[in-house]
Amino acid sequence: MIDIGILVEAVEAVGARGRPTASLHLDASAGIVIGVDFGFRSLRVILATVDHAVLDSEERVLYPAYGSDDGFDAAREMIDQLLRQRSIGWEQIVGLGIAIGGPVDEASNSVILESLLQPWPGNLLEIAASHFPCPVYLGNDSRLSCYSEMLWGAGRGYSSFIYMKLHSGIGGCLVLNRKIVTGATGAAGELGHMVVESPGNICRCGSRGCLETVVGVPAILATLASPYPEGLTWSDTVARLARGESAVVRAFDDAYRSVGRAAGSLANIFNPEAIILGGALSRAREGVALSVEESFARHTLPANAGVTVQVGSLGRDAAALGAVGLVLTHGIA
Ligand SMILES: [Zn+2]
Repeated sequence: MIDIGILVEAVEAVGARGRPTASLHLDASAGIVIGVDFGFRSLRVILATVDHAVLDSEERVLYPAYGSDDGFDAAREMIDQLLRQRSIGWEQIVGLGIAIGGPVDEASNSVILESLLQPWPGNLLEIAASHFPCPVYLGNDSRLSCYSEMLWGAGRGYSSFIYMKLHSGIGGCLVLNRKIVTGATGAAGELGHMVVESPGNICRCGSRGCLETVVGVPAILATLASPYPEGLTWSDTVARLARGESAVVRAFDDAYRSVGRAAGSLANIFNPEAIILGGALSRAREGVALSVEESFARHTLPANAGVTVQVGSLGRDAAALGAVGLVLTHGIA
């Protein structure tokens, strides 16, 4: 990074023995980094400087389960517009990071498990290369959300923590001793496919009773189909939650209880300092961390009594910011 001008060495202070001490700083003028988070029906684009100051963060709603070509085209259009507004050319772009739902196979740069984003088949880096004239990097959205929380958000002060993304799909990431656990094939952290109910509903992964079938956004909407046969959108559901409609409150209470139970089991295995929550469910109402913590405490060993449960601090930007981090570090393993 020094060679290409992103890191600059600066003489900062005089050390204890009278010698100047040098430190490394990111040179904010060295270029622009782009992070793109592709969600189930929307995408978010962040423009940031190489010292990760966010210049723009914008979201666009697309149709559900859009394909990779439409997604990349829409992202390119948004990016071109943002660059034009700031008179920035593509030659100033250091790189573009992509956050995508589903585990990413690092060898083939493809999504391994059928995700909510299907159809996105093939080598996504190769496909992206025809859309973006700059270096492109690819990562799993939950892992990248965790990465940004670790670098710049709620995870900064912890050595070991578990990140749980509670969204349309349920994802996760484990940080042990400031290292993200990637696993043998890069697929570690798929917390949504922990079996928490038996027999339970059939999951898109082919198993039954996965956490995702109990607490994901589609699962909550399906639970509410009986009391609300006319069908609810997510924003309508969150509004009814705020109004305290009893069936909706019950559905969310049950979901947070299940998350706490799963987090308790995970803590028994990994003994983290914190559980950090992200995704739409973590922001659906006040006091989510407390609801999860109450259930967590009932389902974990005394050794984990000091574990803090908290909501991530980077909100909807977390995955796109993690994609920015991915570009800056060229990998997170
Ligand atoms: Zn599953």
